[in-house]
Amino acid sequence: MAGSSPQLGLEYSPELAERLAHELEALPAEELLSWAAETFGEKLCLTCSWQKQSSALVHMLSELGLRVDVIELDTELFFRETYELRDRLVERYGLNLIRPKIISVAEQHLQEGANLWERDPDRCCHIRKVEPLERALEPYGAWISGVRRDQSPSRAGLKKVQWSERYRLWRIHPFADWDEKRVWAYLKVNEIEYNPLHDMGYRSIGCIPCTRPTRPDEEERAGRWAGSDKLECGIHLDGSTTEGN
Ligand code: SF4
Repeated sequence: MAGSSPQLGLEYSPELAERLAHELEALPAEELLSWAAETFGEKLCLTCSWQKQSSALVHMLSELGLRVDVIELDTELFFRETYELRDRLVERYGLNLIRPKIISVAEQHLQEGANLWERDPDRCCHIRKVEPLERALEPYGAWISGVRRDQSPSRAGLKKVQWSERYRLWRIHPFADWDEKRVWAYLKVNEIEYNPLHDMGYRSIGCIPCTRPTRPDEEERAGRWAGSDKLECGIHLDGSTTEGN
């Protein structure tokens, strides 16, 4: 269904979405970010989960001289290393952090029972990530995230620019055609600080109760919700993509 971004002049139509996806596919990540900043201005935001892609994106935006609001979906269940890295990146790059309010873990225990993530992780993710993101994205017209096509088969169809009917905004994926090695190369060559958990076997990092290290022979995201059939936290399940954070 055609709609419009309420904040911007870039009116959505299926034809425009198709044209942008086609025309912008060949743009390098830096040029795509510049295009997005020029097109969406202050209505552009970035979400960070403080994994390796987050480090790469905040550095790249800084190098380009672009100031973009950073939405942090802090579930209050992150690793200490993640919070410490977050604080260092905020200070180094002068990030404007947007932190949607969520209920505390203690309140969640009272309302939903203890350790909801063990009994109903989808509901836990909805309370702690999905609903807060929906609120946080409301003022924006475009959302940058660091997801990549190679992370899972369900992400293979990502476009560099695509419309999200669920969030009513444009999604920007500068690393859609990058692989894990390329992210690492960018971080190393530019000497960018990254989450130290990556050096401890955590190739993908989320909340403490739902993240374990991965073995070298496992998929990148095998340590997320291991032992269950849950693959996605749900924030990216918007009909146009089916990938998680
Ligand atoms: S990843 Fe686990 S602990 Fe974090 S919000 Fe989802 S279910 Fe809850």
